[in-house]
Amino acid sequence: MKYYILPFGCQMNRSDSERVRTVLNGMGYVESDDENDPEVTIRGIIACSVRQKAIDRVYGRIRNWNAVKSERSTLTFISGCVLPADREKFLKMFDLVFPIDQLPELPDMILHYGVPTPGAFEVPRVETGMVSSDQPPEVGQAIIPFEIGAPALGKPGREEARKRIESFWKVKPSYTSPVEAYVPIQNGCDKFCTFCAVPYTRGREVSRPSAEILAEVRFLVNNGCKSVMLLGQNVNSYGLDKKGEELSFPELMRAVGEIGRETEIEFRTYFTSPHPRDITRNLLEVMSEYEVLANWIHLPLQSGDDKVLLKMNRNHSMDRYRSVVNDIRRILPEAALFTDIIVGFSGESEEQFKHTADVMREFKYDMAYIARYSPRPGAASARWDDDVSREEKERRFRKLSTILLEITTPLNRRRVGTVERVLVTGEDRKVGFLSGYTEGRIPVRLAAEGVGIGDFVEVEIISARPLSIEGRVC
Ligand code: SF4
Repeated sequence: MKYYILPFGCQMNRSDSERVRTVLNGMGYVESDDENDPEVTIRGIIACSVRQKAIDRVYGRIRNWNAVKSERSTLTFISGCVLPADREKFLKMFDLVFPIDQLPELPDMILHYGVPTPGAFEVPRVETGMVSSDQPPEVGQAIIPFEIGAPALGKPGREEARKRIESFWKVKPSYTSPVEAYVPIQNGCDKFCTFCAVPYTRGREVSRPSAEILAEVRFLVNNGCKSVMLLGQNVNSYGLDKKGEELSFPELMRAVGEIGRETEIEFRTYFTSPHPRDITRNLLEVMSEYEVLANWIHLPLQSGDDKVLLKMNRNHSMDRYRSVVNDIRRILPEAALFTDIIVGFSGESEEQFKHTADVMREFKYDMAYIARYSPRPGAASARWDDDVSREEKERRFRKLSTILLEITTPLNRRRVGTVERVLVTGEDRKVGFLSGYTEGRIPVRLAAEGVGIGDFVEVEIISARPLSIEGRVC
């Protein structure tokens, strides 16, 4: 019997799905990468509520999945980032709807639901009161209520949330790659940016115990992993919810750096995403001390205009952001700088948009993820007019995309003739080539000869494209 898992959205969701796989593998199911495989009994989605598009795709999928329910006994579930308004609708469509921190209870939910399981013959069906698998519940009878959320919604407080997420983190992930791994260090967010639903879908910030994080990093690097991404919605406020009892984020990074020194294994440590308000010089200085702490910072800008930042409740000004970037350039001169930007936020004027465009030119980002604003029900900004037209958002998106390429194209051209240390991570789309990335996460294509996935290699850059480079092993 097989299962199929579909994570949408960010790296945190992909990381969560690695733990979901462990639980289903533990029940004896085998993963399938084909959702239409007739042997697939369980189909699940790890949802993302950041953009309406991802939610629309959930509706498309569940319609297809429910269409085969009359032919065979199957089970569908949804977890991840789900807003209360969507949850109500999903309860009528999915068999199971549960917050991700209830994952350890998934085997019980499946058994009680009554879908055939690989261990079904060993299950005392009468004693557990299971629904017969011959009579699966109707679509629309989800049996698990979704409970996590902001305390304001009458949901569990931080201590209860902490207990649940800590038991979730104890589930060992089934890593997708032997070379690159996600390591969650925190869940939830206390920042309440007005465009964002995370504090309502994942709840308040909870830091994972540092001993567990460090044990996982040590395990990974001792077992061949070469790139570790520390994940959290707001990584640099790590430890603030347990001030005095837990390491701060710079201390955590130092401890990871020490693992590098002690083991003498080459690997790279990244983190995403930090909040500009909480980034400290101390963190940058720690990064400059250790080889294994990669020269790469993803620093979300969102807008280059003070008034828009205020309306977004980002809690910092452009002066603050500028001083962080200056510190990065001074303390980590080699660091690549990535960012996130939203265009067409509620009320964003042409002049305010131009400030963002100016800031892009000023900071010369190595990469920018640009999003057209769309209000999410549940986020504070959903109450405001979405008053920048779709066409105007598209124009602003194109404008910033053009500026990005004007910046990255010469940056990458300047790399031609230089030698970069590249981590090889997988097959390239072009046959006979592999792909990897530099320490600053610039994608690199290289000829496969004599090189393997997981190798660090010196690569002479021979050509450049706007967002990637190509080279040959020296
Ligand atoms: S910092 Fe803001 S954008 Fe990031 S997760 Fe928290 S509320 Fe959302």
